[in-house]
Amino acid sequence: MKINLRNIGAWFYALYLIRIGKIKKAKSYTFNENLITSVYSHNPSKQLFEKCVKWFIKNGYEFISVEKLKEILINENIFPSSAVIFTIDDGWKNNVSNIVTIAEKYNIPVSIFTTTQPILNGDAFWWSYIKKAHENKLIKNTVNDLKLINDENRIKILEHIKLKIKLKGDAMSKEELIKISKCKSISIGSHTITHPILTKCTDTKSKEEILESKTILENCIRKKVIQFAYPNGNYSIREMNFLKESGYEIAFTTENSYINKSHKNKIYEIPRFNIPENVSFAENICRMTGVWSEKSNLVTMIKKIWA
Ligand SMILES: [Zn+2]
Repeated sequence: MKINLRNIGAWFYALYLIRIGKIKKAKSYTFNENLITSVYSHNPSKQLFEKCVKWFIKNGYEFISVEKLKEILINENIFPSSAVIFTIDDGWKNNVSNIVTIAEKYNIPVSIFTTTQPILNGDAFWWSYIKKAHENKLIKNTVNDLKLINDENRIKILEHIKLKIKLKGDAMSKEELIKISKCKSISIGSHTITHPILTKCTDTKSKEEILESKTILENCIRKKVIQFAYPNGNYSIREMNFLKESGYEIAFTTENSYINKSHKNKIYEIPRFNIPENVSFAENICRMTGVWSEKSNLVTMIKKIWA
């Protein structure tokens, strides 16, 4: 946990939620209603990932793969009662030692959604450049600012920064991608080529990011790629249509929600609860069980005072 007032306040609030039995209630609700718990993270430490896995196992959850989820959504009317699905976004270098090792150790399925360009050319993710440039006071824009502007302008700013800042790559290498794709526990999905905000791209760019990332990945790992996760969770009907045309069979959003029967008709809009890397584990227990609500008054208050 990163020690700051926001996280300490949120930690106490999470302990309070656990103490009053919210987790137990959420667990029996999901088990009784046959809801599937769906979680995702980006670059968690080995300790955090293992803690999450152990917590789910200890609490009677059963890990299922994305392939199995797709099968359930298409073919089955009764959902399993205690299923959990774990996905990882971006394709960080540390995923190789932190995620793959633990997934293999506990024999649990994990999908890793990878961004092909940083993997193939060894470059850093685009937001790493923006963060660094912002810290060094080269630009006023934050990463969040750049997520709001149209993609051509984001690229112009990024190219300008790349002339001034050099960064080491933070994604896994092509060799590592190929190696982990052969692990029994790991499935590889696409997270586009360059991780743009798809809804800020032109039709051509959005389609290319979706379609070509699939082709690139399939050529690398020599397996069919059917899973996709929207960068930053941004998508529209246009992206869903491109996914369908490109041959993807399932896609994940960042909507914080359980998977229920309505998702049988929303196979390109599968929700996931976020597990951030820098908050307390108590907060993450609340998050992965769906108890944590960003809209709750107390969380809003904590964010306002201490963010
Ligand atoms: Zn991402």
